This record gives sequence, C-alpha cells and structure tokens, in this order.
Amino acid sequence: MNFELPEEMVALREMTRKFAAEEIGPNAREWDRTGEIPEESIRKMGELGFLGTIAPTDLDGAELGYLGNAIVIEEFARQCGGTALMLAAHNGLCLGHILHAASDEQKKKYVPPLARGDMLGSWCLTEPCSGSDAAALETRAVLDGDEWVINGSKMFITNGSKAGVFVVTARTSDESKTKGISAFLVDRDTKGLHIGPKEDKMGMRASDTVPLTFEDMRIPKENLCGQLNMGFIDCLKVLERGRITIGSLSVGLSRGALEEAVAYAQTREQFGKPLIKHQTLQFMLADMAMETDAARILVRKAAIKQDAGESSEMESSMCKLFASEIATKSCLNAIQICGGYGYIKEMPVERLMRDAKLCEIGEGSSQVQRMIISKKLLDMKKAN
Ligand SMILES: Cc1cc2nc3c(=O)[nH]c(=O)nc-3n(C[C@H](O)[C@H](O)[C@H](O)COP(=O)(O)OP(=O)(O)OC[C@H]3O[C@@H](n4cnc5c(N)ncnc54)[C@H](O)[C@@H]3O)c2cc1C
Repeated sequence: MNFELPEEMVALREMTRKFAAEEIGPNAREWDRTGEIPEESIRKMGELGFLGTIAPTDLDGAELGYLGNAIVIEEFARQCGGTALMLAAHNGLCLGHILHAASDEQKKKYVPPLARGDMLGSWCLTEPCSGSDAAALETRAVLDGDEWVINGSKMFITNGSKAGVFVVTARTSDESKTKGISAFLVDRDTKGLHIGPKEDKMGMRASDTVPLTFEDMRIPKENLCGQLNMGFIDCLKVLERGRITIGSLSVGLSRGALEEAVAYAQTREQFGKPLIKHQTLQFMLADMAMETDAARILVRKAAIKQDAGESSEMESSMCKLFASEIATKSCLNAIQICGGYGYIKEMPVERLMRDAKLCEIGEGSSQVQRMIISKKLLDMKKAN
C-alpha cells in the first residue's frame, strides 16, 4: 500500500494551497463577519476548476475524482470553513446528484455552467420537520399534465441565496417511505419558489444558509432528475460521497487549528520559555497532529474507494464521524493553547472552532453516522 499521493495530486495540492493562502485566507475573517463571499472570488474559483472538481472534462469539469476533491476541500477549509462548505454543497451535493442521477440531456444543460462557476448549485433535502429522518419529508410533487406542481418547504439550504439551480426532493408516492420520493431540477427564476432570509449562524458564516418555500411551483415534467420515486435512494448515494467532502473539510479545519497553535506556541513565552517548550502543551499538539493525520487517512481511503467505483458507505461515515469530532477537539485545544488571545476574533482559532461544530451536524449528525456504521456491522455479521 502506497501512502504517497500521485504526482498530479501533489501538484493539485500545491496549486490549491497557494490559491487558498493568497486569495481566501486573508479574507476569511471579513467574509465570516459579512456572511458573504464576493462574486469576484467565486468567479476566480470557477476559472481554476474548483467549482467542477468531480465533473468530467467533456462537461467543462476538472475531473479530479473524489481524492482530488478531498485535497481541494482540505486546502480551502484550512483557510476558510465557510468557503469550503460553499464548495462542498456545490460540488459534492448539487453536482454530485446531477452527475449521479440526471439524464444526458440534463447533464449537458446544467453541468457546464455549474462546473465553470457561471452559477452555484444547491441541494435541498432537509425540511423544517425532517432532518436526521430525512425520508419523512413532506414536500409534495403532483403531476398535472406536462408539469409537476410542488408545494412544501426546505430548511438549512447551503448556497440558496445565490444558486442558479436547486436539486429538490419531494414526495411523489405514499406507497413507501423511502421509495416514494423523487428529485427535481428547479431553476432559480421559477415562479412559486420563495427564497428566505439568510440564517444568522454560529459558524460557517461565509457560506449562506436559507429556508425555501414552494407555493404551487410548476416545473416541466422533464425536470424530474433520476427515476420516479427513487430520489431518496439517489440521495443516499450522494450523501455517501458528500460525507467524504465533509470529512476532508474537517481535516482542513483540524490542520488549521494545529498550525495556528504551533505558530503561537513558538512565539508566546510564559515562565521564561516559549509555550511550545512546556511538555503539557507539546503533548496536546502531538495528539492534534496524530488525530488529524488519522482522519486524513480515513478520508483518503473512502475517496480512493469511490474513485475505484466501489461503495464506501462505511468508510464515508467513519471518516466524516472521526474527522468532524477530531476537528472540534483540535480547535478547542488550539484555543486552550492560545489562551485568552485564542478567545478573541483577531486570532483565527475561534472561527475555526465555530466552523468545525457544523461538521458534526450537517450531512448526517455524529449519531446518524454511528447508526450507519453499527447497522453495517450487523449486516456484515448476518451475512457471515
Ligand atoms: C449550516 C448548515 C448547512 C446545511 N446545509 C444543508 C443543505 O445544503 N441541504 C440540506 O438538505 N440540508 C442541509 N443542512 C441540514 C443538515 O443536514 C441537518 O441539520 C442535519 O441532517 C440534522 O438534522 P436536524 O437539524 O433536523 O436535526 P434532528 O434530526 O432534529 O436531530 C437533532 C439531534 O438529535 C439526534 N438524533 C436524531 N435522531 C436520532 C436517533 N435516532 N438516535 C439518536 N440521536 C438522534 C441528532 O443526531 C441531533 O443531535 C444544513 C444544516 C446546517 C446547520
């Protein structure tokens, strides 16, 4: 087994690291304050292929695979969790769903503008009453002649204030809870689509999160994305891949916390020597380094399985669960190492900590990941 990245992935990492350090990092505090990533910055990300990481080159994507996507997301998250979340929802969820389930015609229409960054994408599963139990969703789509009429609402939709296209799930049959849901492609200018105000969040503030309501929203029959009633099954596949992205986002935040803490501990002196010479703090940093690396290995294992065309359901849940919990722990430790200065906004560690907490909740909470992993273990036991 080779733990070294292939040459092209090293080059991708270096290019992304440079871009993120020069173009994202210096703005992260301001974007966290304003809750806004400027369009000019999104345009630059599009030009470099960061908005089409998993899309094929013949549809204007960068075709980096899930390993390449993980590398990109880690580098962005190291600088700004909110920007990384914007990319994660766009690439991992919206584009991910379209690439997985849409018809060739739909892909030709939607993938190139998304991959070039001409528009952002949103993915809309969660509703006010259904989060972890996502299949309990109540939004309904009814066929009326050549149009679907959709009524309902969605909650916590990333990129929603800017997106040009929304992948929307809705109930299309009452015969089965999971096999009675379909996905639809909804253009931003659709009549009956109401985009609510941005949520005032604890972290990931550069990324926008909005509620949506659909009021007799009519879309063409051909905007069904994937097979009728199989939309939730497609969502599970999308989430299996999306969780690798949230895992890599968590690794980036954890690495950020470690690097900031090491830098601070080298310069700050107490009791006549730099903090880094105090063994208690050295041990905290050692644990942060080890756990960040372990999380990255889990992320890459899941990504490599996806790139090989294999299922990574268990690995995706494991990497998302482990990396997100490690990220929160590392960020809290980084604040502890930086002391009072770590608690104020001038230092990035308090922002990293606020960003990290989301990774334990979004795309399936830690409890949901433990449910998936333990169910897989039981299934494996039954099969033997
Ligand atoms: C910033 C942000 C961005 C988001 N972006 C998107 C997006 O773009 N698209 C989208 O569709 N959704 C999005 N979400 C929604 C996110 O995926 C959900 O918040 C998440 O799945 C949890 O659902 P919930 O908030 O309804 O919590 P709930 O499901 O109500 O859960 C509350 C708590 O109960 C626990 N719990 C629930 N069921 C069980 C159980 N059976 N056993 C043990 N514990 C349980 C959960 O783990 C959690 O701790 C986003 C959320 C946030 C905060």
